[in-house]
Amino acid sequence: MAEVLSSNLGYPRIGEKREWKKALEQFWAGKISKDDFLATVKELRLSYLKKQKAIGVNLIPVGDFSLYDHVLDTAVLFGLIPDRFNKGEKKIPLETYFSIARGSKEAEASEMTKWFNTNYHYIVPEISNQTKPFITENRLLALFNEAKNELGIIAKPVIVGPVTLLKLSKGYDQDHFKPLLELLIPLYIQIFNELKNAGAEWVQIDEPVLVRTLSDEDLDVFRETYRSLRNGVPGLKLLLQTYFEAVDAYEEIIKLPVDGIGLDFVYGREANLGSLQTFGFPKDKVLAAGVIDGRNIWKTDLADTFGLLQKLLGYVGGKEKLFISPSSSLLHVPVTVRNEEALDPVLKDALSFADEKLAEAVTLAKGLNAGKAAIEAEIEKSREDQQALQQSDHRNNKDVQKELRHLGSELPTRPGSFKLRQQIQADAFQLPVLPTTTIGSFPQTPEVRQARRNLRKGEWSEERYNQFVKDETAKWIKIQEDIGIDVLVHGEFERNDMVEYFGEKLAGFAFTRFAWVQSYGSRCVKPPLIFGDVDWKKPMTVKESAYAQSLTKLPVKGMLTGPVTIYNWSFVRNDISQADVFNQIALALKKEVHALEEADIRMIQVDEPALREGLPLKEEKKAGYLHDAVYAFRLATSFVNNDTQIHTHMCYSEFDEIIEAIDALDTDVISIEAARSHGEIISTFEDFKYKKGIGLGVYDIHSPRIPSVDEMKSYAERALQVLDPKLFWINPDCGLKTRKPEETIPALKNMVEAAREVREEL
Ligand code: GLN
Ligand code: ZN
Repeated sequence: MAEVLSSNLGYPRIGEKREWKKALEQFWAGKISKDDFLATVKELRLSYLKKQKAIGVNLIPVGDFSLYDHVLDTAVLFGLIPDRFNKGEKKIPLETYFSIARGSKEAEASEMTKWFNTNYHYIVPEISNQTKPFITENRLLALFNEAKNELGIIAKPVIVGPVTLLKLSKGYDQDHFKPLLELLIPLYIQIFNELKNAGAEWVQIDEPVLVRTLSDEDLDVFRETYRSLRNGVPGLKLLLQTYFEAVDAYEEIIKLPVDGIGLDFVYGREANLGSLQTFGFPKDKVLAAGVIDGRNIWKTDLADTFGLLQKLLGYVGGKEKLFISPSSSLLHVPVTVRNEEALDPVLKDALSFADEKLAEAVTLAKGLNAGKAAIEAEIEKSREDQQALQQSDHRNNKDVQKELRHLGSELPTRPGSFKLRQQIQADAFQLPVLPTTTIGSFPQTPEVRQARRNLRKGEWSEERYNQFVKDETAKWIKIQEDIGIDVLVHGEFERNDMVEYFGEKLAGFAFTRFAWVQSYGSRCVKPPLIFGDVDWKKPMTVKESAYAQSLTKLPVKGMLTGPVTIYNWSFVRNDISQADVFNQIALALKKEVHALEEADIRMIQVDEPALREGLPLKEEKKAGYLHDAVYAFRLATSFVNNDTQIHTHMCYSEFDEIIEAIDALDTDVISIEAARSHGEIISTFEDFKYKKGIGLGVYDIHSPRIPSVDEMKSYAERALQVLDPKLFWINPDCGLKTRKPEETIPALKNMVEAAREVREEL
């Protein structure tokens, strides 16, 4: 019978209550045996499959589950492990697998980096020109058989495709790309044949690099690779899966010799649909339509999506040629809304996490197979739920909406130019050359965390907690003065997290109990939900900053998180534009900046560590994003007086694509991470002729090591060969909240001494 099928691309690993994370961490800590650990994760893995089956998903993935990261799994599958971990074993022991990811006593971990434009981080495979890949063990086959034998599920094995795998790997020269690929392809073929012989019908081959800009050569590589795979595995259906954007070169990609192509109709809706209309879709292939948002948390607009699917049905060769799926793996969303009993029902009813999204896919498939009438009730319910939130007070803050409407298109601008401000501020602050400062947070010791827990559990009164925070602040103001730092901070002892802290004090945010997503390894984050109009209710940081300032004659920097970072580290409503949400947050922060200025805080740092993270994958979308980001930042900061000094901070080191935007923020001072990648950064700022205040991190705060005076001096001296000493600041790479006091204090003493010595040499 010709039917539309529902298909999942990948299911979250972490479990409804983070059971996976707990098992991993217990195993790493030696608290459970390897056998117990493996039994626990097997049980979890099977429970996820059962759940998907119960929801009614037709094509259930295997191979998506991982003990750490799916890119690492794929690398290990092909024996692509760094030399320093390679003991020549045929099968890679579990201990080695975790060592590659986390480091061991003998060897450093592999690098990790962001998976495309998500907040998920994968382990970068390290290979060399000489690497000879081999199959360590066919884990996909084991997982396929497990699903089949234990649950009777004929699953769809999922694997990172050969081109994406190699493109994401590092350590080889470009002219070895093809030879390495030629070594990998027969191994993929062998794995696929074993799967076919075991009864697999489909395999899903993830090639997300297809949404990046592709050269003619790249396209040739894809053509050759997929021709080889096709010829090597007759009879097994190959699903070429893309996500996160529309594919580049659609008309070439649809010609590849595969049985199905997965396209993202959420993040690449317009462009993919446009291509489909222009070039059609091959009648002999399956279109796996990613129509349910795999990256965000909102219910699908079923009526609209049903319409889209009907349209798509018109392009394919029959119902059996259409799959309905999430736009990407559901790795990027929390597991289920079910346990969020404490949420406002109007919000809760508008949410859809992994389990609910799969149910939506199943519903839509049913509608296409049995007729719209069969799902009329679900469509109606989804419409009502979304409308209720839309019509609620949360999304109808008249004041905020009016302010938003009155924003002009011109960039908000400081009253005076940087040159003028520089003079005025030099007179006002009387800082030495090469002033020293820190990035904001001081150690969050066990006592600080305990104090917050005591407050949360009601064991401490608000007063007692506030007094504790004050005492901690006073202690660290004194420490900073004693060390001889020039610009002080209050230390952020009141904050648990730099986004959550503000979210809890602003209107428009909500917090869940269990909506965790994997960030890397066992590390999970629980992003706030920006679900309504964002609004400032009362001062959020003034009390702490003003108190710190009252204790010292030295300037204390106020400390806020910027609009773009708050956005990028949250799940965000999708009914209004990104720019509108940026600006709502910016308008709220503007009020906070104003309140700080009124309280006579004359230096204000607005952190934007996530500005680069939100950069779109497509070249043509980057400028628009950066414009909107700069606009929002300036909206929040540029109205201040010339003698108020605006700082920002970004803790990363790739500035090539954003240096113009950084300059356009028009901050008086930017502090950035530099200790680990000095040369590159300096040249980016030098080539650009950056002419505003800049602090290059001289101290890598990610390591417990205490850097020496000479080491920090050498960083500063190198930078001063090209940067103007009048603009130069000396500071660590980032905040010190993860460091211990006994690491922080000596390191800062060395930093101040380094500054003193470099000053003398000027
Ligand atoms: N002000 C913050 C801190 O010092 C900045 C953190 C960050 O950049 N991630 O912790
Ligand atoms: Zn930082």
